[in-house]
Amino acid sequence: MIEVKNLVKRYGDHLAVNRLNFTVEEGQIYGFLGPNGAGKSTTMNIITGYLAATEGEVTINGHNILEEPEEAKKCIGYLPEIPPLYMDMTVLEYLKFAAELKKIPKEKREKHIKEIMSLVKITDMKNRLIKNLSKGYRQRVGLAQAILGYPPIIILDEPTVGLDPKQIIEIRDLIKSLGKKHTVILSSHILSEVSAVCDYVMIIANGRLVASDTPDNLSKLTLGSNTVEASIKGTRNTVVKILNQIEEIQNIKYKDSELPGCVDVTITTAKDKDIREELFYKMAGARCPILHINSSTMSLEDIFLQLTENPGKAEKAKTETPQAISAEESEAAQAGESEKVSGEDENVPEEAAEDEMSPEKGMEKVSGSGKSNEEGEQ
Ligand code: ADP
Ligand code: MG
Repeated sequence: MIEVKNLVKRYGDHLAVNRLNFTVEEGQIYGFLGPNGAGKSTTMNIITGYLAATEGEVTINGHNILEEPEEAKKCIGYLPEIPPLYMDMTVLEYLKFAAELKKIPKEKREKHIKEIMSLVKITDMKNRLIKNLSKGYRQRVGLAQAILGYPPIIILDEPTVGLDPKQIIEIRDLIKSLGKKHTVILSSHILSEVSAVCDYVMIIANGRLVASDTPDNLSKLTLGSNTVEASIKGTRNTVVKILNQIEEIQNIKYKDSELPGCVDVTITTAKDKDIREELFYKMAGARCPILHINSSTMSLEDIFLQLTENPGKAEKAKTETPQAISAEESEAAQAGESEKVSGEDENVPEEAAEDEMSPEKGMEKVSGSGKSNEEGEQ
């Protein structure tokens, strides 16, 4: 249905999209997931013909977006990041105008617009000026514009950004219902959103596809490792030094603790390794008491952070596109490893650590294995 081959977009020196390859099949809901700046909007703007690619090819239902733009665009309804609304029009005026642009036959327009307004629940607002609408209603009007004419493919760039929780749930339900008849691609930097709504997830980081699979399969990947979270009393230097003596540790993140004089660490190990005893004795030996320790399997959210902050790690997670990983990224992975030794501040990029990641964090937890629940707390 949509084929993206070797897509590259450069803004001057900046590589915003870096050799993306993927295929979108009919009748599914796809999610582009990635931190801010990952290249989601750029990719969507290219697929929809709003922006020219530097290299690569996009085909929509067999129509090349550059060679047959009109045919290709006819298949797509698009809600860009900033909806293209005319503030001085009423909702109805705007939708009539959009329907005309989309060449919906005149005799069908009125009935169709009525149906769409009812679908996105804006009928009561039809005579209001768009500039007087709340953000949530404006987003719905943008959505109505995208759905007009029922195009087979609907592309939505961060459709729930800036909405309140009730509006978010409504829009998500609407997207799910659209998914029954249409192919939908939506982008989001919120993991819970994508895993709640999408049949298929494509994780994008630094313009590259780092993983793509069903939410379930992505969760299964997380079963390959264990996480230990601990609050340890002592200086960061001492804690770093001792942790570096424990060989089984694959990755460590440090954070300032809320407990006075403590360092919070999140340690990743292979699934069959339990380092808690060794951690206890080593820290006791160094007179660094552990005030809190908790062990769990990794959540989908942890995997997302790991993939997007350290794309080289994606090798094992990648299920679809062999070309997505390069030597460059393997280097990045090695660079990531050295963080274990340096004990510098946690390596979570600002965007990925955004607070929006946390409110719904609980939803992501991979079904807690008996182990993590029974023995986790000490
Ligand atoms: P996302 O939608 O995932 O947040 P974008 O596609 O908007 O990411 O941006 C990808 C990268 O390209 C970012 O680093 C952004 O700063 C850069 N970028 C986007 N648009 C432009 C532009 N018009 N000129 C220069 N750089 C841009
Ligand atoms: Mg964007």
